[in-house]
Amino acid sequence: MQSQPCDLNEVRRAAEILVNAKHAIAFTGAGISTESGIPDFRGPQGLWRQYSPEIATTEYFHSHPKEFWAFYRVRLSSIFIAKPNRAHLALAELEGMGIIKAVITQNVDGLHQAAGSKNVIELHGTMKRARCIVCGREYPMDIVIRKIDSGQLPPLCDDCGGILKPDVVLFGEPVKDFDKAQELAMRSDAVLVIGSSLTVYPAAYIPIFVKEMGGKVIIINMEPTELDYLADVVIRCRAGDAMTALLSMVKELLNRGG
Ligand code: NAD
Repeated sequence: MQSQPCDLNEVRRAAEILVNAKHAIAFTGAGISTESGIPDFRGPQGLWRQYSPEIATTEYFHSHPKEFWAFYRVRLSSIFIAKPNRAHLALAELEGMGIIKAVITQNVDGLHQAAGSKNVIELHGTMKRARCIVCGREYPMDIVIRKIDSGQLPPLCDDCGGILKPDVVLFGEPVKDFDKAQELAMRSDAVLVIGSSLTVYPAAYIPIFVKEMGGKVIIINMEPTELDYLADVVIRCRAGDAMTALLSMVKELLNRGG
């Protein structure tokens, strides 16, 4: 999809919401990381245009662990070399300034923490480690990658020989820390949604909770999302461009005294 310039009027409206909010949070999806070279699932270059989503289900993991790990090895290649982009960095800066209180993410790439965000809830877990499904021993992902690359597919536990599973939430598994995220959303008066198609539940309830409690919803996404109808502001351009413009607009408003 061709990138389009951000509408600066919408960016200004979003900045005003954030500056006037008492408790604003961010909710992010795979689209914030595509500019770091990690493909999303449903965007124009998304993984689901190449693979079937069945591959990320618990059933598939248990019935085809070898093929499952072959797919995850490909995903890990992009995740392990990725660096935070302008959108992650701007968001971390907004947190440092006290404008954003927390980041609730569906991403598993660890790029918010790498950018400097401190208060991050990872609803779908992380690709930075794996765990034995039998004894629960935890492995840093670089060790798992070494196992796979030396021919152990699927990778196995050194202690009990059980199959390792990435510490991510697969389709069919409960999300992590959802109660904490829900509680946070329900006491927030603004949410900045960045790079999510807002189709995966229960994660996509986060902006709905904020709206239902009377808060404002800002959506930054290249394409229309399922929840554009409830947004107060929609900024339809690349996350890096939008977040760079939003950060400078917030600074400008603060310098002028709100
Ligand atoms: P999604 O793939 O469903 O949607 C991503 C959205 O971002 C799309 O609507 C797309 O148009 C938009 N987008 C892509 N690049 C963009 C850019 N540069 N600027 C602005 N918008 C952009 O992703 P989702 O909503 O997060 O939900 C799917 C699942 O994907 C989550 O469960 C998550 O765990 C998983 N996932 C995570 C990663 C990651 O950690 N980086 C990568 C792929 C998938």
